[in-house]
Amino acid sequence: MTELPSTEMETAYIGMGSNLGDKLMNCRKAIGLIDNIDCCKVKTQSRFYRTEPVGVVSQDWYVNGVIRIETGLSAHELLSFLLSVETGMGRVRRRKWETRVIDLDILLYGNRVMSEKNLTVPHPLMHERRFVLIPMVELDPDLVHPVLGRTMAELLDSLLEEGQGIIPLREGRCGS
Ligand code: ATP
Ligand code: CA
Ligand code: CA
Repeated sequence: MTELPSTEMETAYIGMGSNLGDKLMNCRKAIGLIDNIDCCKVKTQSRFYRTEPVGVVSQDWYVNGVIRIETGLSAHELLSFLLSVETGMGRVRRRKWETRVIDLDILLYGNRVMSEKNLTVPHPLMHERRFVLIPMVELDPDLVHPVLGRTMAELLDSLLEEGQGIIPLREGRCGS
């Protein structure tokens, strides 16, 4: 891969989820595809978690995780790339929050704050989602949310204890 000068690189956090097919393999494949292109390097990844679906009824459970990358892509270029990875892996978009082979969201792009038609950063729901905050705390508990001014650990602490079931997957296993 061609390394860009460090001044042009940005740190981004990408949330991923799958609830169709071999969910763990789908997440791993997406990480490999992201790491494989010029201008994107996966620096670290959280554990994977088995999570209950939220916002929809009668859906299969998810595998979720978060990765931190260094990228020379702009936020819009990164979004286009992630959408192309989703499509390349067979995702078809019909309705919101439907079953999907892979979902790749930009959670944070440096300290950048943007709210545009096709891209909102930080991801507008990240601070409400345990399946995002638990892996974020695992990676970077002291990282400050650029809009809310609170750390990932504080944001997780402020969520109710009960709620969505989230269980770390044992290494190499997909759970049942
Ligand atoms: P949610 O946003 O609640 O996580 P979702 O991930 O299921 O829902 P999608 O159907 O995957 O939603 O995405 C719909 C659109 O959201 C994308 O085409 C993209 O343009 C837009 N979008 C806005 N902000 C972001 C972001 N930070 N990361 C990824 N997509 C985003
Ligand atoms: Ca999502
Ligand atoms: Ca998405």
